[in-house]
Amino acid sequence: MKRIVTLLLAVMLLATGCRQKAKYVFLFIGDGMGFGAVSVTEAYLAQGEAGVAQGMGQLAFSDFPVMGAAATFSANAQVTDSAAGGSALSTGEKVNNDSICIGPEGDTLVGIAYKIHDAGYKVGITATVCIDHATPASFYGRSLHRGYYYEIGSRLADSGFEYFAGGDFNRPYENEPSCYAKAEAAGYAIAYGRDDFEAKKGSEKIVFFQKRDSSHAMTQLPTRLERIARDNPDDISLKEMVERGIGHLEGGKGFFMMAEGSMIDFAAHSNDVPGLIFETIDMSDAIEVAKEFYRKHPRNTLIVVTADHETGGPACNKHCDLAKVKEVCAPEGESTVDNYMDGHMSREELSQAAHIGWTAGNHTGDRVPVYAIGCGSEKFAGEMDNTDIPRKICEAMGIEF
Ligand SMILES: [Zn+2]
Repeated sequence: MKRIVTLLLAVMLLATGCRQKAKYVFLFIGDGMGFGAVSVTEAYLAQGEAGVAQGMGQLAFSDFPVMGAAATFSANAQVTDSAAGGSALSTGEKVNNDSICIGPEGDTLVGIAYKIHDAGYKVGITATVCIDHATPASFYGRSLHRGYYYEIGSRLADSGFEYFAGGDFNRPYENEPSCYAKAEAAGYAIAYGRDDFEAKKGSEKIVFFQKRDSSHAMTQLPTRLERIARDNPDDISLKEMVERGIGHLEGGKGFFMMAEGSMIDFAAHSNDVPGLIFETIDMSDAIEVAKEFYRKHPRNTLIVVTADHETGGPACNKHCDLAKVKEVCAPEGESTVDNYMDGHMSREELSQAAHIGWTAGNHTGDRVPVYAIGCGSEKFAGEMDNTDIPRKICEAMGIEF
């Protein structure tokens, strides 16, 4: 009898993935991170680690047990932009390109972060570009156009979400009161840099921006290559924003954190191989932090990694030689990063030398990968639509969608 009960329990566990509901959920979005970006980066890592010319290295999510692929077309285009891609991942509905959480008929849509917040969980939104950029905006904002930064930035204050981190507001003073004044009036502490964050982290709701560079607002965090080149101790990364986010959101009923590796897309737009690889590795480092958290709470943590769309269509062509990229980007020795950053070797020359091909200087209509681990991860196996993803997350958390 005891054996049958154990067997039944084991079968139930297999069938449901976990016996509990997901209490801690991380949604990582690599902006523009298609299968090509992942494959080129894994090939680069294989070359780096083993000194061999072939193989696939490991990113933090390479060994996630569940994998699927999501279609990304929008309501009015086969090839989506970040606004429609982000809105689909947030609301579970297709919207037109450039729209943030407003449907093609003008209907206002409610994002997953609001549903999860209403159910009593804390919410964190992080990105490496301005916090009102299309992808993060899709999780708290609503606007007919992604370019209405003031309107989107203003909505941050109304969200009530506990944690925001990323690049500064894009157009905070376009109207009165400023996005800063609105956020502060709504009870947000705005912290610039880690010392300021440490001083203000007792605040229930906090916005974490990088320390200003000679009084200029940093609407975009430095890329990983820029951090290597400039070696500024004030630079923060997605990894640090996720770490501090966990510290801020932990405790209570649980949390949902959306973290975007925003600049993979920028690199892919300009067919920049080292940028593509280093920004993908940078997001992987942030995912490693979530993975450590998962190891501590394996029964009620869910991590999902995906993209809002593919960008650039990169691939390793025949005679592909990623050592060329390594030569250019070696963080030590002859300051080759500076050379590359200063444009002594063009992106095109490097792509040709490394035999990395690109199909576009813009987004493509390719499906994007979906990786999942933890509680409810089995829901993310196989082919799906991007609009299925928020629904599956809510299912895993036991929240009505
Ligand atoms: Zn995008």
